[in-house]
Parts: sequence; structure tokens; C-alpha cells
Amino acid sequence: MEPQKESRTPRDTVARPPRVSITPKQAVEERREGSASPERPASDLEADCASADGLWELPVELAPRRPECGRCRRPQKVCLCPFLPLHPLHIATHLYIIQHPAEENKVLRTVPLLEACLPQDKCKVKIGRRFSEEKDTELSAICRKSGTLILYPGAEAADLEEFISDSPVYPSTIIIIDGTWSQAKDIFYKNSLFRLPKQVQLKTNISSQYVIRMQPTNRCLSTLECAAVALSILEKNNSIQETLLRPLQALCSFQLQHGAQVRLSKEHLLKNGLYPKPMPKNKRKLRKMELLMNSIKI
Ligand SMILES: [Zn+2]
Repeated sequence: MEPQKESRTPRDTVARPPRVSITPKQAVEERREGSASPERPASDLEADCASADGLWELPVELAPRRPECGRCRRPQKVCLCPFLPLHPLHIATHLYIIQHPAEENKVLRTVPLLEACLPQDKCKVKIGRRFSEEKDTELSAICRKSGTLILYPGAEAADLEEFISDSPVYPSTIIIIDGTWSQAKDIFYKNSLFRLPKQVQLKTNISSQYVIRMQPTNRCLSTLECAAVALSILEKNNSIQETLLRPLQALCSFQLQHGAQVRLSKEHLLKNGLYPKPMPKNKRKLRKMELLMNSIKI
């Protein structure tokens, strides 16, 4: 199954010059990733403007992105391929990532790194918020298989390690939802398909190393980290975790060297009186904050 990606760069005729200026957000990314182009003399720029005359009506690619590395899908100047394994890892488990559409366009994504480390036929990404038996026949067949697990924490979830030691059927597939915690919750609870596989969770004491993106609690892991831990358990091979986390560590250390801040978890900020925003007025949100402060699972 191919990832069902929505077209991001439709061709269109627009009345603006092809040299599209970057948005403030892109400018920040450029600075952070150290890829801003050097200053050019004014005469060069004038020549560009003159040569742009008459090109206004030509079809252009909207939202041009910087050239990406074909393997790690990072901008070429900050390619993380030296930190990826030379060849995709040999694994027996099939990994399905259900990705919220908002996650696809984030700059600091971890799923492309995961895809680059695993064989294509073992790591599938499906993008969307709603899935049905009728439209998503392959996914629904997978959800119905007895060897399929879904990684989503909660009272109903079994510990993955304990589950595989007792299960008569050894799991062959694991589904992981990629998105913020509220997006993942929405996808899990609003799609009855995801209630079909056995629900499992990770009982791990490791803290997230993805320190440049804020997580709700100190124990929340990024999608890449969840996949790394889950695959190490399922494949009974700890070196998988190490290999999969290497590009993430490189990404974080590069971003930190170029001005990114360590994003402490919301839990840490609340507990230490460092939360930078006023407390919410909405009672439900306030209750969630109180639960976080008291380290109760939400
Ligand atoms: Zn690369």
C-alpha cells in the first residue's frame, strides 16, 4: 500500500514572480538549520528582478521547499544520512504508522527518519484522520488479523513485553499513531477499526530524547522513539533501538547547536512553576493541567 498523500504542490497559474520570497517561519527555519544563503550584491538582485519581468504569468510550483535529501527527507544541507544505517534493518515485524495530516508538513518530523531506517515493505505510512472498513480495505484486513497490535496507552492496554511472552500468536504487525497527543486520541477513539487489534503500551522508564519538541509529560515518547522501543521488544534485539535513535539524537543536537531551545515537558514546567502561559479558564483544560501536575496519567 502506498501512503495516501494529499497533493502538496499543485501546479497553478498565479500572478506573482517565480522567485517567491520565504515566509517568516521559513526564515527562522533557515537560520536554525544554518542554510541561509550568503548575502549577494545588489546588482545581482536587480538583474534577477529585471529578468523576472514577463514571467509573472508562468505556471510555478507553489510553496517551493528547499532541496530535500531523497533518503532522510531533510533539507540537503542538514542531511542526516550519515547517522542512518547503511542498509535498511532486517526486521520481521510490519510497522504501520497512522499519521495525522497536520504532522506531514511539520519541519521536524521523525517518521521520515524511521522510514529511511526500515525496509519499504515493513514500514507503511497512512495519512488521514478517519478510516473505514469500506474505504480502507487493506487497513481493515490488517486490523482484523490476530497478529496485529496497536500501540496506544490506557487502562485497557497490556504491557507489550508481558503480552508477547503469554500470547499464543506472535505479533506480526504493530500500528502506531503519529500526531500530537490530542490528535492521536482523536484518531484512536473516533475510528472503530483501531479498537479491533490488541491494545498494548510500553512500560519504559526512558525519557524522551526528542528534546526540541514539547511533550506533555517527561515519559511521553515521540513516534520514532515508540517505534524504536516497540520493534526492539518484538524483534528481541536491543540494537534496533540504538540504531533508530541515532538520527534523532543527531537531529536534536544539530538543532540545539543552531539556536533551538530544549523544550521541557509541560509537566516539568507546571511542577516547577515555569509554565509560561496563564492557566486556562476552561474547567476541563484546567483539570487536565492539575492531573499533569500531580503526575496522573491523562
Ligand atoms: Zn539524507
